[in-house]
Amino acid sequence: MVRVVLENVSKTFKGGVNAVKNLNLTINDKEFMVLLGPSGCGKTTTLLMIAGVYKPTSGYIYFDDRIVNDLEPKDRNVGMVFQSYALYPHMTVYENIAFPLKLKKLPKGEIDRRVKEVASMLRIDNLLDRYPRQLSGGQQQRVALARAIAKQPDIFLMDEPLSNLDAKIRVEVRAELKRLQRELGITTIYVTHDQAEALSLADRIAVMNEGVLQQVGTPDDLYNRPANTFVAGFIGSPAANLVDADVVEAGGEYYLEMLGSRFKLPSDLAAIVKGESRVIFMVRPEDVKVVEGQGFLVYSVEWLGREALAHVRAPDGTLLRVLLPPESKLTIGAEVSVTFNYAKVHVYKPSGELIA
Ligand code: ATP
Repeated sequence: MVRVVLENVSKTFKGGVNAVKNLNLTINDKEFMVLLGPSGCGKTTTLLMIAGVYKPTSGYIYFDDRIVNDLEPKDRNVGMVFQSYALYPHMTVYENIAFPLKLKKLPKGEIDRRVKEVASMLRIDNLLDRYPRQLSGGQQQRVALARAIAKQPDIFLMDEPLSNLDAKIRVEVRAELKRLQRELGITTIYVTHDQAEALSLADRIAVMNEGVLQQVGTPDDLYNRPANTFVAGFIGSPAANLVDADVVEAGGEYYLEMLGSRFKLPSDLAAIVKGESRVIFMVRPEDVKVVEGQGFLVYSVEWLGREALAHVRAPDGTLLRVLLPPESKLTIGAEVSVTFNYAKVHVYKPSGELIA
């Protein structure tokens, strides 16, 4: 079993693109780590450096205590699964799964035992004689997973492995993947731009933006204690509201002037913003409450199934995202006011860092 450590790892491509900037990250033994971020943030580059396909421009990659910068990909014993399943079209499912084991020159009996074991684990044992073109997308993705698992790698590296599957099958294979990873206890590094997928799979998530690591933490950490406005805005759906505010003191009380209105802060938040003149106020749609009052206008209401998402227009024209409970009778055009669940809000410096 293996722990992966990235120490001051950077990658600059020819032409000068700094795809990864001074990344420090430890993936613990048996951990399911998700690299999450928007397109182009450096996730895939990071994964390919761990695989040995790219060499870091600077910094070190360790597997346990061993520096692997100069180790060939084939000598790293990693199992890779990608978005395109990359199955060999002229081989049956059985042969596809067996192929890496043949390359390893394992005895035939051992190969047969492993192929059948993983096939049954992934419930594709009835498909072993078929060719990839005779399989659905979900089945092909299972075969790709089976092939990676059969190798008994020290580390799984996965790059958006579920993104070609339709929504229902994706959720199904996702659950299976999570269960298998637990069962096998193999250190896994998984790349996605889908925050819902990251929240559901990860032990911990590393959020990246423009080549820079933004925060590493459990799904709960990232959702409830985002370290900066990028993470606050990226994690959570519908997205959090991020609002510019002026801090005003009057008569010993602290207020936020924002949205064309003024909000009195409870004492714990007042203590946090004291000393700041401008902040960014972050509140999730489920923590905004619509109440009787004036100045705010219900602009749209959209049923999501169990609850509704409303856009509420503030006096200054900002549209706030608000989740309404199922029993809400709010209609478009209603004039209202809003309050916040202050226990759940966060305030950030204008530069984006959390004010502790
Ligand atoms: P996506 O989700 O779109 O795959 P990503 O987060 O995985 O994005 P990377 O593929 O790691 O991002 O790319 C990071 C940056 O490095 C991008 O600006 C990309 O254009 C650039 N890049 C990636 N590979 C190369 C390469 N081989 N040569 C030059 N630039 C590259």
